[in-house]
Amino acid sequence: MPSPTLLKKYADLAVNIGANVQPNQYVVVRASIESAELAREIAKSAYETGAKRVRIDYADAYASRIGYDGMSLETLQEVPDWLVAKYQADVDNGACLISITSPIPEINKGVPAEKMQKASMAAMQKMSFFREHTMGNRTQWTIVAAANPEWAAKIFPDDTPDTATEKLWTAIFNATRVYEDKDPKTLWNAHNETLGSHNKVLNDYQFKHLHFTNDLGTDLIVELVNNHVWAGGQETSTNGHVFNPNIPTEESFTMPFKLGTRGKVYATKPLDYQGNLIDGFWLEFKDGKVVDFDAKASKDALANILNFDDGARYIGEIALIQHDSPIQNTGLLFYNTLFDENASCHMALGRAYPMNVQGGTSMNQKELDEAGANNSMTHVDFMFGSEDINVTGVTHDGEEVPVMRNGNFVI
Ligand code: ZN
Ligand code: ZN
Repeated sequence: MPSPTLLKKYADLAVNIGANVQPNQYVVVRASIESAELAREIAKSAYETGAKRVRIDYADAYASRIGYDGMSLETLQEVPDWLVAKYQADVDNGACLISITSPIPEINKGVPAEKMQKASMAAMQKMSFFREHTMGNRTQWTIVAAANPEWAAKIFPDDTPDTATEKLWTAIFNATRVYEDKDPKTLWNAHNETLGSHNKVLNDYQFKHLHFTNDLGTDLIVELVNNHVWAGGQETSTNGHVFNPNIPTEESFTMPFKLGTRGKVYATKPLDYQGNLIDGFWLEFKDGKVVDFDAKASKDALANILNFDDGARYIGEIALIQHDSPIQNTGLLFYNTLFDENASCHMALGRAYPMNVQGGTSMNQKELDEAGANNSMTHVDFMFGSEDINVTGVTHDGEEVPVMRNGNFVI
């Protein structure tokens, strides 16, 4: 069991800094049955803040797995109208969104890749309006995490379930700056300021491209779109509220030019995708597109990501993270993107964030295409940073500026 004091502080952080719930606002909490304790604490905290109504949508990863096995492919692809209507009502009500991730590792191992892909494709097509709503920052949204014994056992295999779960809660609190003797909100305000000043330096340079190299074999050029915006930490929704989409977050990220990535990149952490652990993989890019790839484990799941749709072979995000960070310093591999992506430089296959180009959040898809943004129904981050990674920025005048040396910022 996590300490009640820390759980309360974490819930307050999710509500006040994460989603920044406004008085009289509707709040939707997406939780799993494993994270009920935190979900209830978040609901309490949201009402204390003045929320109008809090709805908790519980998912059950085990029941979902039973469904994958039991349903036909046709039934799995049905997306009922009432479900679409529910999400539409959340959009119409201006609800903000708090998601709690609490993964059950490899829960979907053995489900045919095609079955998973077609089911999630059907859901994403029908729900694309909702994804555009959140990814376009038209409301405040945030993602936090809760420990569970299965996830904890993956990270601490030698401990009893109780000890492992407790250790994972401690790691989550450390990684998110939640301590007994300090006010997390004060710490997060300072952290947001640091990330903000970092983004400013990168925005002022407006690099044409970034060049990544390390000893593992990564040698990659990532061109950036014109008028790109480096963001990270706080964001502002189009309805004017400042919020933190990820707790934790350590990244400065921006928009690559869809056709401008070339070379080879080696992943440095395994990627948990729909319950499959993809490990030891690399991708080779030409004119922005993945033209070759391999993986030591779950290569079919990687192929699944890449074949998701036309945009899934192009990248939509490039993110710089200092190797020396609270998450990296826990020394743990969390087997979860929210944490692992914030420990390491990463990029995302799939959709770009409109906020990463000037004026992007008010552009339609055609305008975003013209700006060089990648479009896809998926967005999958993977990690390739390392303690020896070097990043050099090249300006439009050809000036080379060291950005990172041996994993840490030098600008
Ligand atoms: Zn990112
Ligand atoms: Zn991402």
